[in-house]
Amino acid sequence: MIEIDGSAGEGGGQILRTSLALSMCTGQPFSLTRIRAGRAKPGLMRQHLTCVTAAAEVCGARVLGAEMNSQSLTFEPGPVRAGDYRFNVGTAGSCTLVLQTVWPALLLAGAPSRLTLGGGTHNPMAPPFHFLARCVVPLMRKLGANADLTLRRLGFYPAGGGEIDVTVWPAAHTLAPFDVLERGPKVDAHAECLAPALPRSVAQRELQHVGAAMGWPPAQLREVPVRQNEGPGNALMATLVHEHVTEVFTQFGEKGVSAERVAKHLVREVREYQASDAALGPHLADQWALPLALAVWQRGGSAAYTCTALTPHTTTNFDVIARFLPVRFTTAPRGAGWLVTAHG
Ligand code: AMP
Repeated sequence: MIEIDGSAGEGGGQILRTSLALSMCTGQPFSLTRIRAGRAKPGLMRQHLTCVTAAAEVCGARVLGAEMNSQSLTFEPGPVRAGDYRFNVGTAGSCTLVLQTVWPALLLAGAPSRLTLGGGTHNPMAPPFHFLARCVVPLMRKLGANADLTLRRLGFYPAGGGEIDVTVWPAAHTLAPFDVLERGPKVDAHAECLAPALPRSVAQRELQHVGAAMGWPPAQLREVPVRQNEGPGNALMATLVHEHVTEVFTQFGEKGVSAERVAKHLVREVREYQASDAALGPHLADQWALPLALAVWQRGGSAAYTCTALTPHTTTNFDVIARFLPVRFTTAPRGAGWLVTAHG
């Protein structure tokens, strides 16, 4: 039984999700204590509980402590079963984090899986749908792990109600670790505003400010058409497409925060990325560690990436991954960023 301290390092939900994902991939049981002790409301919230029950359903696990607010959990995985699954967070909690929990195990299964995920699709402190679809999926495909993601309906806090369809293709025999050291030449840059059920002027003002600050003409500023029954909600996104990597940065509008301020925060995030020539931004850097480690574990050898920052999420994820897989991460400063290497 692998014993994980949920208060270590960053002390958030990622420790739980990485443990669930790698427990399923390796068949090793784990017990987790002090779950999310680093957060204001520790323990399992609705979204985390959905991650646990989704993981348990996919591998027929025996689970103790899967209750709201629980601060400890024991998870004994069984064999992973590909299939058709429907997981609903039931609140506006992020359904993309549920996907991240079960994705690694399902890609090692022997047949395709189809998932329907319900909940929040664009949440602060979670990967927005567009980040997964544009940044993570192309890297996963290059790793040999194909997946198709479709956004059916946007979901924002507090109403939720979003829906995503996912197909995960089997990749156990195609995984091949690779280096992401350079971004490559710039291919495209644009800003988009999602503002369902809000006045059009919100999106227009946010986009105008981003355009003025970045020097992006109207062709690079897009209001995204919305479907019926979506929202209210507001996500302002910047997408930077380079030959080897795409980055999506997202800021959320909220009551009492001006459109100008939301735009200003987004511009700051984009400029921080542009100030370095490392390939991956801070969020992609923590999320890329697990799939890369999985590929290195399966195929041996080592693989590296560069990133603009090493956040507590990233270093904590390295530590949790190393508890489940014989993969060790090393880091070294490189230019205005870091070089991360996963050693098998
Ligand atoms: P935790 O705080 O431990 O629940 O983990 C949150 C996860 O969401 C981490 O993997 C973060 O990198 C990811 N995340 C948070 N904000 C964003 C964002 N704006 N874009 C992409 N990923 C994000």
